Amino acid sequence: MSQYSNALQQLHNAIQGLDISRSVIALLEHPERVLTVSVPVEMDDGSTKVFTGFRSQHSNVRGPYKGGIRFHENVSEEEVKALSFWMTIKNAVINVPFGGGKGGIIVNPKELSERELERLTRMFVRRIASVIGPETDIPAPDVNTDGKIMGWIRDEYEKITGTDAPGVVTGKSVEDGGSLGRAEATGRGGFFVLERLREEYDLDSENTTVAIQGFGNVGYHFARLAHEAGYKVVAVSDSRGGISSPDGSFLNLEDVLVAKKVRGSVADYEQVGIKRVTNEELLELDVDVLVPAALENSITAENAKNVKARYVLELANGPVSPEACVMLHNQGTTVIPDVLANSGGVAVSYFEWKQNMDNERWKEKLVNDKLKDLMDDTFDSVLSIARNRKVTWRIAAYQLAIERISEAMK
Ligand code: NAD
Repeated sequence: MSQYSNALQQLHNAIQGLDISRSVIALLEHPERVLTVSVPVEMDDGSTKVFTGFRSQHSNVRGPYKGGIRFHENVSEEEVKALSFWMTIKNAVINVPFGGGKGGIIVNPKELSERELERLTRMFVRRIASVIGPETDIPAPDVNTDGKIMGWIRDEYEKITGTDAPGVVTGKSVEDGGSLGRAEATGRGGFFVLERLREEYDLDSENTTVAIQGFGNVGYHFARLAHEAGYKVVAVSDSRGGISSPDGSFLNLEDVLVAKKVRGSVADYEQVGIKRVTNEELLELDVDVLVPAALENSITAENAKNVKARYVLELANGPVSPEACVMLHNQGTTVIPDVLANSGGVAVSYFEWKQNMDNERWKEKLVNDKLKDLMDDTFDSVLSIARNRKVTWRIAAYQLAIERISEAMK
């Protein structure tokens, strides 16, 4: 199945038994607009290369389209359509006043010089400037795009429109109108979800073991916050492998981070009592909470039967395949879906946009407090649907989103 039909399959799974009109479903099945653009770039050697870019605007029924822009060789129209659909769902789950969008350029940015990358970004903005804006469509970082690229987007858009428009894009550097707390927002949001899970299921943090796959932006901040709150972070990994300490006592996360920065991988962290584990082994450790925070489809029908964790907290996007999700459910493992667990990043993007629109700068504490409120409300809404309707957390999150979108359409 293509990614887009996969996304639609999730939509249809979620609406079974719901009183949602056919026309709402028909509208959700089709992005409102998909723009394909050619992006000519003058390369450093004087030649011209033409790249292909997309912006999919799935739905603006709950507010301006909102979603990232990725630079990757595998970007395709189908992919941005599917990702824009998921943004519509995610923004509705977390109840921020945005619809869903996503964009991308088919390019391997590592093959471009910094100046070529800047020219590519600015030309892409010229091509899509007529359909984006602080109140129409607000891009953000995604795979291979960062705060510097968001700064170029803002600058080019402002040149074209002759306006001051920091709210045209989020994920900017703090100096350029970004929000304090954005860098760690996804990990922090995931940590707030873990805390609510602990309260609901009467877990005791000191006796709750956690294994985390991926030690990047999301995985590291989540690990640090969980560790500081007293959870036993017993294993972490990155693309080169992982480490585990059966009771967490030997994992000093700051030192693990240093090992990753200096020597390239968390697997290079050496300490008496530490065991090396492969990424496959990490997923199968006998822990309470397993946190895939790296890749799509890391838990599939192949390895789901070996997962022993009681809870899987999806901090990556789509780390558990649909078949694996059913298998885990049948094994008694609760999967907290990505659209809830990793929505802290989008939540703080909303706070950034709001600060830009209101010409304000919030203190980091205010950002974190508001994030906690939003994550707690979202957690409670999803939990209540899951319990009352006896459905999985993923179906509950989708139902919550689809009902909100349907109300807005009416
Ligand atoms: P990142 O690039 O900072 O970190 C990714 C980490 O995963 C790195 O430690 C990398 O070594 C590791 N990794 C890569 N391949 C691996 C493999 N085969 N096995 C184990 N580990 C591997 O990325 P990030 O921003 O932390 O994002 C991680 C995931 O979270 C992605 O799925 C992303 O889409 C999702 N996500 C990120 C945000 C955000 O705000 N950054 C928001 C929502 C979702």
